[in-house]
Amino acid sequence: MDLIFASNNPHKQEEAQSILGPSFHVLTPAALGLPGDLPETCDTLRGNSIQKACAVWNCFQQACFADDTGLEIDALGGAPGVHTARYAGEDKDPAANRRRVLAELEGLPFEARTARFRCVVSLIEDGNLTVFEGTCEGHIAMQESEGVQGFGYDSIFVPIGLDVTLAEISIEEKNALSHRGKAMRMLQCHLREHHG
Ligand code: IMP
Repeated sequence: MDLIFASNNPHKQEEAQSILGPSFHVLTPAALGLPGDLPETCDTLRGNSIQKACAVWNCFQQACFADDTGLEIDALGGAPGVHTARYAGEDKDPAANRRRVLAELEGLPFEARTARFRCVVSLIEDGNLTVFEGTCEGHIAMQESEGVQGFGYDSIFVPIGLDVTLAEISIEEKNALSHRGKAMRMLQCHLREHHG
C-alpha cells in the first residue's frame, strides 16, 4: 500500500519505513513535487500533526499521515513541548536546541532530569482522520553523547531502561521503544485491520 508521510525529514522517513515494513511504501511529499516544510502553526502537537496531514491530503487526495513530536521536560514545566523544533530559534538548529536544553538544566542531577518524547500521528484515508499517540519516557543526559545515530535531541535523551542515549542505539532498537515506533505501530495495526 502506498502512503504519503507528510514529512521531508529523511530521518523520520527512514524510521517510518523501517517501522511499517515492506507491505507499506512510504512516499515523501518532495518526491511528489511538494518540497520544503509543511505548515505547523497550531499551539498543540495534535493540531500541528493534523494540519500537516490535511495539507498533504488537500494536495494529493491519497492516503497520508503526519507526525508531530515534542520533548517535554518536567523541570522546565513541560517545555519545549510544541516549541521543540524552534527552541533555540527560528532556524530550527538541532545542535543549538540541544545546547539550550543542557544549559537550562545545568546543575540538575540526573534523577531530576525526567522527560518524555510525545509523538502524535494523524492518518487521513478516504477523507477520514484517525489520530494515534506514542510516548517515550526517559531523562535528559548530563551532557551530549558521542553517538551518531538518530537526529534532533536523540544524543541528549536516555530512555528508561537503558543507560545510553537514543543516538547510541540502532534504528531498530530505537523504533522498538520510541514514541514514533509506538504511535506508528498503532497506525500499522489500524491499516492492517482495514486492509487485511
Ligand atoms: P517535528 O515533529 O518535525 O516538528 O520535530 C520537532 C522537533 O523534535 C525537531 O527539533 C526534531 O528534530 C525533534 N525530534 C522529532 N522527533 C525526534 C526523535 O525521534 N528524536 C529526537 N528528536 C526528535
